[in-house]
Amino acid sequence: MKTAAFLGLGAMGGPMAAALARRAADTGGRVLVWNRHADRAQAHAAEHGTQAASLPDVGEAEVIFTCLPTSADVNEVMEQLEPHLRPGAVWVDCTSGHPDAARAQRARLLERGVKFLDAPVSGGVSGAKTGTLTVMLGGPADEVEAVRGALAFAGRAVHVGDTGAGFAVKAVNNALLAVNLWAAGEGLAALARSGVELGAALDVINASSGRSNATEHLIPDRVLTRAFPPTFGLGLLAKDTGIALDVVDNVRGSAPVLAQVAALCRAAAQMIGPDEDHSAMLKLIEQMNGQEIR
Ligand code: NDP
Repeated sequence: MKTAAFLGLGAMGGPMAAALARRAADTGGRVLVWNRHADRAQAHAAEHGTQAASLPDVGEAEVIFTCLPTSADVNEVMEQLEPHLRPGAVWVDCTSGHPDAARAQRARLLERGVKFLDAPVSGGVSGAKTGTLTVMLGGPADEVEAVRGALAFAGRAVHVGDTGAGFAVKAVNNALLAVNLWAAGEGLAALARSGVELGAALDVINASSGRSNATEHLIPDRVLTRAFPPTFGLGLLAKDTGIALDVVDNVRGSAPVLAQVAALCRAAAQMIGPDEDHSAMLKLIEQMNGQEIR
């Protein structure tokens, strides 16, 4: 790949674009970066050796990556960039987007001879910084294979199905994250009210069958410490659980637990704040129980 472009230099996009730049430095390629607030792109270029570019100039790239909050945001950017795209280019959307949007976006871009793959990621800001994200790709197998080598931010890239499947898997993964986090919070609030020391309780749970990423990492690191570092917004988790419910509805499935947790995430985003870290969802459980989880 000679020229890649990365659009959206947020908590995830910034370090992902930096990983592309490290690879490009070794292979003689270049990485163009664009951000809605352009100062962020200038700062990225100065720090990581990328090149801040205008939206029309980004159209020169052979591979265009996006990592924006929602598919609606990607549509806005696509509208502006569409006239400048080169036939033969591939658009790799790393947003945690909506499967229906992926199908519409692919159809729209194919009319211009541009391919589209949904390629959401997991592994958080720390995985983006170390270039060890897991990428879940949706689209035709040959197109997935052609782009695999360009995913410098990935530790693992899995082809999960046709267009939209990547977004669907990501949404279900994050719905499971929300279920585990919420359920652990409920249980720990009750234990704290019973006078149990939560460090000891987590020691046991994490050596037992109730463990999850929430009990092993999120709650000890973010909740018990009261740090709640804002790396992944509560509003984004609420968005993802809503997409998971749409995935269920599209196949006329039944998922009452996922529906409950989606409603709880939406309430928590409303009451605690969409920009708070997703772990701050447990503050709602604390209010419901009159008990801090610490
Ligand atoms: P951030 O809020 O940190 O960054 C959002 C980025 O999108 C910024 O560059 C922002 O630009 C840009 N943006 C927002 N709205 C628009 C718009 N309408 N048009 C153009 N640009 C826009 O988000 P994250 O990096 O945390 O998340 C990005 C995606 O990755 C989301 O879909 C999220 O669910 C997913 N994700 C996040 C993870 C995390 O741990 N944070 C982990 C895995 C996936 P500006 O700087 O101008 O505001």
